[in-house]
Amino acid sequence: MRGLPNSIQARDVEYVLHPVTNARKHEEIGPIVIDRGEGIYVYDDQGNRYIEALAGLWSVAVGFGEKRLVEAATRQMAKLPYYHTFSHKTNEPSVLLAERLVKMAPDRLKRAFFANSGSEANDSVIKMVWYYNNARGLRQKKKFIARTNAYHGITLASGSLTGLPANQRDFDLPFVPVRHVTCPHHYRFAEPGESEEAFADRLAAELEAVILEEGPETVAAFIGEPLMGAGGVLPPPATYWNKIQAVCRKYDVLIVADEVINGFGRLGTMFACDYYGIDPDILVLSKQITSSYQPLAAVMISQELYDGIADNSAKIGTFGHGFTTSGHPVPAAVALENLDIIEEKNLVENARRMGEVMQAELRKLADHPLVGEVRGIGLIAGVELVADKETKAKFDPVGKIGAQVFARAHENGLIIRAIGDVIAFCPPLIINEEQIHDMVRRFKLTLDETAQELLNRDVA
Ligand code: PMP
Repeated sequence: MRGLPNSIQARDVEYVLHPVTNARKHEEIGPIVIDRGEGIYVYDDQGNRYIEALAGLWSVAVGFGEKRLVEAATRQMAKLPYYHTFSHKTNEPSVLLAERLVKMAPDRLKRAFFANSGSEANDSVIKMVWYYNNARGLRQKKKFIARTNAYHGITLASGSLTGLPANQRDFDLPFVPVRHVTCPHHYRFAEPGESEEAFADRLAAELEAVILEEGPETVAAFIGEPLMGAGGVLPPPATYWNKIQAVCRKYDVLIVADEVINGFGRLGTMFACDYYGIDPDILVLSKQITSSYQPLAAVMISQELYDGIADNSAKIGTFGHGFTTSGHPVPAAVALENLDIIEEKNLVENARRMGEVMQAELRKLADHPLVGEVRGIGLIAGVELVADKETKAKFDPVGKIGAQVFARAHENGLIIRAIGDVIAFCPPLIINEEQIHDMVRRFKLTLDETAQELLNRDVA
């Protein structure tokens, strides 16, 4: 195990239960202690430098060590370190942030509700939709439709929307009424010879069939990440969202865009809704909203939803939902400064330009013997590793090679994410061209070493 007796590593192993980690393996190998960060880099406590190719958890847009965010937090903490927004109280940073988000977001969205995390935001979405439909007298209209491989969080409700076995197995999920339809990943789920367009048509037809099977009077909302992230970086066919939206509108099914990863420039547009032409009733934002320097999420809703909720709150006395930290002034102040930096440094445009470089460089690896598909848009990409490029056969067991690449990448000064055998890239939006070349070079080296190790093992 890493670390000497009584080191931070040893004490971590003794005292901490880690999220989304194999606990027994963790006891064996111990943690890497990340000590500080600067730009696209983080450093461990041994002084080793890593390119943070996933921006933490898809979140540090402006890079590590951004002093302006530290100063914004410090200023706000000195003035008003905390206040709530229950019962007719407010504070300036949360109001300014709500106003700014409404002005930035797709037209239909007119109000912001604040939470701490993406999971809480999606729990809030479910409750708001139920509350709204009860207010409309549509008491049966409660079911959600999500997709397989979706990631919407891990709480009881948001974890029910998530479509990944690892987040549901042995947690007795799903817990709320949800149906999962096919995720729009052409490489894995299209029929042989099926075009992207025909695949999108088939998925829209599947959605319609599920709504009709359940009964449109029972289906409340469709939730999707415009470009799916944690399920393996899965960009949909270009026309997918138009077709899905048409089906939802036909049956009065609300459209929820979960942009917890996509939002604030990741695809080279401010929101992925802009990229795909999605006009959602609800938009969920988090992560890059503060570059994750502070926990914050926002649920943006349409005027119709707001009016339904507002009328009902007047009728029954209150909208009885919210958190101690909803509208906390410190994360709001950090978000405002973070959005200033994104605008002043043209980081959305940088993501578009650098995204083109990253996508082109990674696609050069498509010929590598381990690589099945390279995919992505802007500064988010997935490289799927396969045992057989022709048949697209996966490695057995899935995830083993991904874990090897993940571990070996550390030795090459690179932190990536392995989702099964898909290697995800989602670097800070400040990355420059030289850094992209360095990142891809380190990744190629890692792939070559892994391929060699596989060969050696076969020969041995
Ligand atoms: N939605 C999406 C699309 C996400 O990617 C995530 C987190 N990766 C969440 C929701 C949940 O966010 P949190 O971890 O802040 O609860």
